[in-house]
Amino acid sequence: MFVSLSRKNIKRLLAVTLLITSLLGVTTDAAMALPASVKVSLFAAHPEITVVNVDGAFEIGPNGPSSKGHTEISLSKGSLYLKSGKGKAARRVGGRLVIRPLSAAPLLLQPNGLAARHYRGSIVVTASGGKLKLVNEVDTKSYITSVVGSESAPEFPLEALKAQAVLASSVLARHRPGLKLNDSTEVQAYLGSDYERPLAKQAVGSVFGQILTTASGTTPAVFYHSTCAGGTSDEREIFSGKVLNDSARQPVSSCRTATRVKCSYCQTSPFFKPHVVQFSAAELRKKVGYVPIAVEVKDPQGRPLSITVAKENFGTSSSSSSSSSSSSSSKTSISGYDLWLKLGQGLGWGAVPGMRYSFESKDDPSGQIVTFTSTGAGHGAGLCQWGAAGMARAGKSYREILHYYFPVANLNSK
Ligand SMILES: [Zn+2]
Repeated sequence: MFVSLSRKNIKRLLAVTLLITSLLGVTTDAAMALPASVKVSLFAAHPEITVVNVDGAFEIGPNGPSSKGHTEISLSKGSLYLKSGKGKAARRVGGRLVIRPLSAAPLLLQPNGLAARHYRGSIVVTASGGKLKLVNEVDTKSYITSVVGSESAPEFPLEALKAQAVLASSVLARHRPGLKLNDSTEVQAYLGSDYERPLAKQAVGSVFGQILTTASGTTPAVFYHSTCAGGTSDEREIFSGKVLNDSARQPVSSCRTATRVKCSYCQTSPFFKPHVVQFSAAELRKKVGYVPIAVEVKDPQGRPLSITVAKENFGTSSSSSSSSSSSSSSKTSISGYDLWLKLGQGLGWGAVPGMRYSFESKDDPSGQIVTFTSTGAGHGAGLCQWGAAGMARAGKSYREILHYYFPVANLNSK
């Protein structure tokens, strides 16, 4: 895993490695093998694709042409149509196509209305529910390199990128073979080969094959987020919306961040400072479906675990003569995480970027106004990416970074 080292450096490295090994419990047992290639659903956050333009040197199977140029794939009445070259008519080609590159150069994909991206490997295009589905089959190393670039800021240092590479591989190792990944941050961002930055390549090259495991050698769920702005949370509390008692919080054979680490390394993040935004209750009712009333329980990091909300109940009037939909609201309880997701989905992810959020309501002549204040970005569980960058700048290695945010995890390498 370490190449191009002088003997002196190897000695020095071994000393450091031994020290870190005792900290991290590194084993040299074979890690769960990563698959040779992965299948990733592309443009998952944009499910409305009906046309995609392909550029590059490729062949289209099963019955399509070889092409060194531009091809447009469109959809009409459940069938795919191919159009190559100006003035040529679109040709109906069935419900499924495989685009294979004819060289090592990535293919350029440009779906309707979206920015173009380059991808290595092959692309399977299918007609599904009136939309185009694009699945990229790509070799695992290229996938992880792109994820590391897609999930980091260009200025992140090498050791932070190595930590990110180990996490990207750990997420993949937990994914069952044959299951398709998607390219959204719901799994991990994968924006194609444009994001294989040189430093990301170097990072993946030096830690490829390493993953986090539990004490018993299983692959745990690992989480990461942009900016914790002061400290991380226990993912079991964040995702369940419940406070754990002390015995449940023991990190038994898992790589929990149950100790909820403090983090002041992420101060250079653009999300470190409080972000304040206002919405009318009417807009929240319409776009989110909930208006927050009061925080019921917070975790020690100040992230709300459960919240009392006014829930909008849209009437399902059976009267066909009624043109206006009736609605009423009722009080209920929702987890802080679920409300945060709904805020992101309804108002855009930049509205309340961090899960450490609070809110205040006041009556305005124009109606009720809710002010949200959040710090950080993301759910706050697991590794803090801007914190990892700060640690790397402070001279910490990727092993130290991983050990800091995943204190009871093991680092397994091939
Ligand atoms: Zn942090």
